[in-house]
Amino acid sequence: RAKALGKARYHVFNPEMHHEATQLLELENDLRRAVERQEFIVYYQPIISLVTGKISGLEALVRWQHPNHGLISPTEFIPVAEETGLIHAINIWVLRSACEQLTIWQNHNSTLKSLTISVNLSVRLFSHPKLLAQIDQIIQETKINPACLEIEITESVIMENSQALKKILEQLRERKIKLVMDDFGTGYSSLSYLYSFPFNVLKIDQSFVKRMHENEESMGLVPAVLGIAKSMGMSAIAEGVETTFQLAQLKNLNCNFAQGYLFSRPLQPELVLDFITNSPQW
Ligand code: C2E
Ligand code: MG
Ligand code: MG
Ligand code: MG
Repeated sequence: RAKALGKARYHVFNPEMHHEATQLLELENDLRRAVERQEFIVYYQPIISLVTGKISGLEALVRWQHPNHGLISPTEFIPVAEETGLIHAINIWVLRSACEQLTIWQNHNSTLKSLTISVNLSVRLFSHPKLLAQIDQIIQETKINPACLEIEITESVIMENSQALKKILEQLRERKIKLVMDDFGTGYSSLSYLYSFPFNVLKIDQSFVKRMHENEESMGLVPAVLGIAKSMGMSAIAEGVETTFQLAQLKNLNCNFAQGYLFSRPLQPELVLDFITNSPQW
């Protein structure tokens, strides 16, 4: 819903769109109130190492607990949050929650010292002059090891504002924070950008994983993308892994990590330690 409304904003206004425009305004107001009242919740999806077969980290995925509409997906409200600038407050809140949560898990179980937490940051945040200071403050206050923090940025939007972005990414790397290029293969960036931006990890978009069909010889583009990651000295995560067939193929292809409904849906934080204890060795 919000996505369609978000687009409507850019059209020339006409009477038919009055309703949509009103709805968008309502959504914006709702979102503003949601930020004030902290109506968000972070779910965590396990990321599995295909070398050990065990969990290596978790990706933080935000949801909006709307008082009337229930749980709202980030694909619905993140675009509106980005347009209105509310994304900064929301995303910093997610980052802080995720770091706090990781510290809680690690304090609870001393074998989890190298467990990582991945947070999606909207590229919009990188034009904010206080971003680095805020990240530093969160690291300090939550006492998280920065080497356990991974920041995911979606490929399709990376190229806007590239010089400034590059500089901040380098500063994040100096802090030992890892950088993940999310949804790799879906954007408009050319391969040469991989050389200019200091990413550690390529996350293969789920659309490529979906095309690893059973009973077909073709693995689609996944082997090619894994080859790119390898030749760049980057590790690779396959996202959207739903079948044991996909898992077996990814292992054969030496993909480093995998994430998807096969292992677990995004979990409420209370369920994560249980998952870690009880999940099989994949
Ligand atoms: P993403 O970062 O690429 O996250 C992967 C999405 O795929 C998540 O959707 C996840 O729940 C879903 N997914 C995971 N495994 C499977 C699977 O096996 N099959 C299928 N069909 N889907 C799977 P979700 O949670 O709805 O998030 C959607 C997008 O919203 C994320 O894509 C990310 O771009 C954005 N997002 C989520 N949280 C945040 C946030 O805190 N800040 C920002 N800026 N964006 C966020
Ligand atoms: Mg992501
Ligand atoms: Mg992704
Ligand atoms: Mg995505």
